[in-house]
Amino acid sequence: MIDQQRLVWILDLLVERAAIHAGQKQDVLNRGRDQARHILLDKRAQMRRMLGRHRVAYRVTEIELVASFRFQVADNVDEKVDEEYITQMVAESLELPFIHLDPLQLDYRLVTSAFGGPFAERHLIVAIEETDKQLTIAMADPWDDELVEGIARVKNKRIHVVVAAKSDILGVIVEFHGFRRSMRAAEKDFASEFPDLGNLEQLYALQDVSELDANDKPVVRAVWYLLNYAFEQRASDIHLEPKRDEGWVRMRIDGVLHRIHRLPKVVLPALISRFKMLARMDIAERRRPQDGRFKTAHEDQEIELRVSTVPTAFGEKVVARVFDPGVQLKELEHLGFFPRELATFKGMLAQSSGLILVVGPTGSGKTTTMYTSLQHLYSPRVNIVTLEDPIEMVQEDLNQIAMQPRIGLTFGSALRNVLRQDPDVIMVGEIRDEETAQNAVQAALTGHLVLSTIHTIDAASAVGRMLDLGVLPFLLSSVLVGAVAQRLVRRICPVCAADDVLQDDEVLALRIQGARGKRLKVRRGMGCVKCRYTGYRGRTGLYEVMPATPRISTLINEKASAQEIKREALNDNMLTLREYGIKKIAYGETSFDEVMAVTDDRTVY
Ligand SMILES: [Zn+2]
Repeated sequence: MIDQQRLVWILDLLVERAAIHAGQKQDVLNRGRDQARHILLDKRAQMRRMLGRHRVAYRVTEIELVASFRFQVADNVDEKVDEEYITQMVAESLELPFIHLDPLQLDYRLVTSAFGGPFAERHLIVAIEETDKQLTIAMADPWDDELVEGIARVKNKRIHVVVAAKSDILGVIVEFHGFRRSMRAAEKDFASEFPDLGNLEQLYALQDVSELDANDKPVVRAVWYLLNYAFEQRASDIHLEPKRDEGWVRMRIDGVLHRIHRLPKVVLPALISRFKMLARMDIAERRRPQDGRFKTAHEDQEIELRVSTVPTAFGEKVVARVFDPGVQLKELEHLGFFPRELATFKGMLAQSSGLILVVGPTGSGKTTTMYTSLQHLYSPRVNIVTLEDPIEMVQEDLNQIAMQPRIGLTFGSALRNVLRQDPDVIMVGEIRDEETAQNAVQAALTGHLVLSTIHTIDAASAVGRMLDLGVLPFLLSSVLVGAVAQRLVRRICPVCAADDVLQDDEVLALRIQGARGKRLKVRRGMGCVKCRYTGYRGRTGLYEVMPATPRISTLINEKASAQEIKREALNDNMLTLREYGIKKIAYGETSFDEVMAVTDDRTVY
């Protein structure tokens, strides 16, 4: 039940700080009761699913209620009166420290032993530090003095109260009393029955040992937690890795691998078996690498996971790649193009025939750009055929053909056949040999729009690469619509971004012209729960968009060098990847480190 007095106190505090105005306060007071009921129904159902039991104690707090109105601080679009904002303000006002809870920093034994799960849940408390004389607890609802006194009596210790956001605290409770409890149960169940798969010899020896039951409930639940955590964190890969004495769970988030869990060694094979079972692999087979896939749902979206296994020195390792359909539903507008580059790129895609090359190393986001472009081009009147190796995202609107080199179905050979299918647009996964290059140009010459990728460092070098693959300069110059080089950088977390200035040595390293001695304002992620204290959340693209202008076509025809072509493009105001990155830093979208990591300053002047 909402405590009306406390609610008014919070609202007054917000009005006093000019975060909200009196009208908004009245709005909360008028609609609060209904709103609280909705939150309760929603959250209780969510908690039931997460904890896997019917009885859950969920109380809507006053802070949560006010936050659910999603006000903006003094109507400022950038700052929200969210749970963290209000909790921080309340803590300040009560003269209590406010902290962020990082699950990886907490002592699992203390959290799970100090208070039972349901008690912690009901009172929204987590024990975070304990000494002989004092116990530090994080509370989401720091008003309950009686509770604090009670705990002090039972524990016979001084209680030090700090304040944390409710979502942080519930996250820890679910994580520790959920996932880790499943792990302990699994450990207990399996420890006695199964030998340590400590090395390869034992792995071979295991052939005759009866299989551990991957259907066992704690294991099912543990995998469920892992998957949900991966989806919440937008992880692209989940790694289950046996080490000498323990098992690791690592996840790749925004391109960086993070270690999420360290597990008892005996438990890992159970998790691995569960993944293999879901992906319909042969569970008994541990020496041969296997591939498989399965689909699951998260927040009403279907997510596909591709699972592969390899034997390692310490046992079997599993990697699951997450294919989030949200990725392919992106629009060109969301890939990180600035307006001018977006207009130029759309202009290229508007051509009815010709060749467009997307350029960059593995992991630079080329595939996403290609799929998004195809989606942009799709209409019921357009026949789009793709040649892929392998098919990365299944899309109904496309006619997708998977390459099978073993039976001679390669990009080069498939391209010839596909022309009989009357395509308007053809996507070729990658141009990496002469046959593919020649046939892609032929297809473009005969009235098709061909999109493909090529491995070179920048847009201008793509021309040289095509000529190296034996394409005649006059043919390439007549079909090339343009080339786009790209890289991915991590995006600064919008939740914890703060103003900052570029350091002098950073300005120098970026060689920003005319910037000497000036204070250049940038943004920096300070680290928060939302970004796992990395300061980054999500990724965005850097693009070098080079349309083949008449001047550039002439240069290609004259076999000009990549430098000459690039110089001409720069004359036409093309931004290099580095310059594009600098612009992104200036706009507060990414950081100096990110741009330096993926670009160089091989600009030709
Ligand atoms: Zn953050």
